[in-house]
Amino acid sequence: MEPITLASGASYFKSPAMATTAAIDALNANKTFYGPTEGTAALRQAVCDKYSRQGQSVQPEQVLITPGSKQALFNLFSVLLRQGDEVVIPTPAWFGFHELMKYSCGTLVPLPTTLHDNYRICPEKLRQSLNGNSRILLLTNPGNPTGRLYSKAELEALLEVTNEFPNLYVISDEIYDHITYSQPFTPILSCVGAKKEKLIIVNGFSKSFAMSGWRIGFILGPDDVIKKCIDFQGNTLSGLPEFVQEAAQSTLEQSDEALEEMLPILAQNRQLMAAALDAMPGVTYYLPEGAYYFFPDFSAYLHKKTPQGEELGTSIKLAEYLQEHYNLAIAPGDKFGSPGHARLSFAIEPEKLQEAMERLTQGLSELV
Ligand code: PMP
Repeated sequence: MEPITLASGASYFKSPAMATTAAIDALNANKTFYGPTEGTAALRQAVCDKYSRQGQSVQPEQVLITPGSKQALFNLFSVLLRQGDEVVIPTPAWFGFHELMKYSCGTLVPLPTTLHDNYRICPEKLRQSLNGNSRILLLTNPGNPTGRLYSKAELEALLEVTNEFPNLYVISDEIYDHITYSQPFTPILSCVGAKKEKLIIVNGFSKSFAMSGWRIGFILGPDDVIKKCIDFQGNTLSGLPEFVQEAAQSTLEQSDEALEEMLPILAQNRQLMAAALDAMPGVTYYLPEGAYYFFPDFSAYLHKKTPQGEELGTSIKLAEYLQEHYNLAIAPGDKFGSPGHARLSFAIEPEKLQEAMERLTQGLSELV
């Protein structure tokens, strides 16, 4: 049986042709030396243009080009956090946040949300989780692993609470911003109550543009924070290769074309996965409005045994069983702060997805 993975965060799509062309042209033009730490002027401007198309006015000095969004977050954690600071993260959340925190000062404070409540962040619960030590509220919109998209009204209700805490920064990880289905994405910058001096956007090219291997992302934030991050980046990594920056610039400048192929396929795959999950008795899920994952609850199966007589008990064991007997990889929910669930990516070839869902259906039906 050929291996199939639904566990990866990278999609199967090719990087946009204009990215590859721009990188090759830049290499041929010998742009192979240190790039400017903060990013090329043209790419910083292209980032500003992306936000001005959404109606936001931002300046190049507010942008730092980073080697991926992960490093963007690490820069921010490094310059903003001091011992005793708290980072509030609604869960389930991408496991990378928790892993990054191991290398930063500060303590992660989970703010649990549930499938039962459609992964809504309750403003009152947010208020209860904040105090004088709270330094960062880290939102992910659209969410990974939930696919949850926050509406303008929801974001504004959250900002009303965060604005009561002058020491607090809101970081909005918007790396899946172009990947939406049923409703449009709301940039947090467009919300009433968005205080530019306390609001930071993290974004990148890995997801929307299938460019995870190029390692490029950016931070958009207040000048003083960006200055500190430039200093940190200059003294640790330096600037990104110019040919990578030119690839990213070209992609942003032609973003509609770059997104053309991917979005309709993802929309179809989403339907396919939803239909397969609907046919699995006892499996419940939130229909993702963005990103490319489902995060179903498999608890109804975890009291069962494998046909080989092994107890399951956790979605980690369920993942092991599917891997061993069906050559199918899924990402257990424990890593995301939601045991019993598992993250399934639908950003794979449609035929493989069909086959994966057949294997999953069969695997679950054979549990006793
Ligand atoms: N934030 C979120 C929510 C992600 O899902 C990921 C990748 N899985 C990242 C950041 C990191 O992305 P990058 O490849 O840009 O470092």
